[in-house]
Amino acid sequence: MNKLKLVFATNNQNKLEEVQAMLTNFEIVSLAAINCFDNIAETADTLEGNAIIKAKFITEKYGLNCFADDTGLEVETLNNEPGVYSARYAGKENNAEENIKKLLKELGNNSNRKAQFRTAISLNISEKQYIFEGICKGTILKEKQGEKGFGYDAIFMPEGYNKSFAEMDMNEKSSISHRGKAIEKLVTFLNNYTW
Ligand code: IMP
Repeated sequence: MNKLKLVFATNNQNKLEEVQAMLTNFEIVSLAAINCFDNIAETADTLEGNAIIKAKFITEKYGLNCFADDTGLEVETLNNEPGVYSARYAGKENNAEENIKKLLKELGNNSNRKAQFRTAISLNISEKQYIFEGICKGTILKEKQGEKGFGYDAIFMPEGYNKSFAEMDMNEKSSISHRGKAIEKLVTFLNNYTW
């Protein structure tokens, strides 16, 4: 039987392989695999909005089923900032070092260090749209701890743990992370999907 092709609107090979391993009934393909090299502008002011923009762009341009994700770090006492602007909090795109510096400065010695990572996934399949969400609650450390991971991992300590995301290996992080939870919901949905 031919597998249903599903575009994951990303070029991050790690994310792609992780999802493919969980979805054996589907052929998961990247943006590059469909020859999409457009710079899809993430202009929404919510995570859901950006996920919807990315998935919609692919479905409309290529006529393919597609899902896209967007993630942000929401810090309670900073009105849930940096949120949708997490990648470019300090200005430049994806400068983790500067982003962390800015966040620690904004928080200062504030005793409320509650934060959560949130991932939104938008899925377009058979002309319908579905949204999935994954949340990982925790606190912002006063300084960096650990070398693994990326982004804000070194200053985020998930609830119930005594170490940062940057001190966990990938499997341990994925089992409790925002993205892991959102993907789990997507996978459960797709594995029960009939068309
Ligand atoms: P994206 O939507 O997955 O590209 O994530 C947007 C930004 O959020 C990234 O550039 C990182 O700064 C941050 N981020 C997303 N996921 C994580 C994570 O799992 N750990 C740390 N930072 C993350």
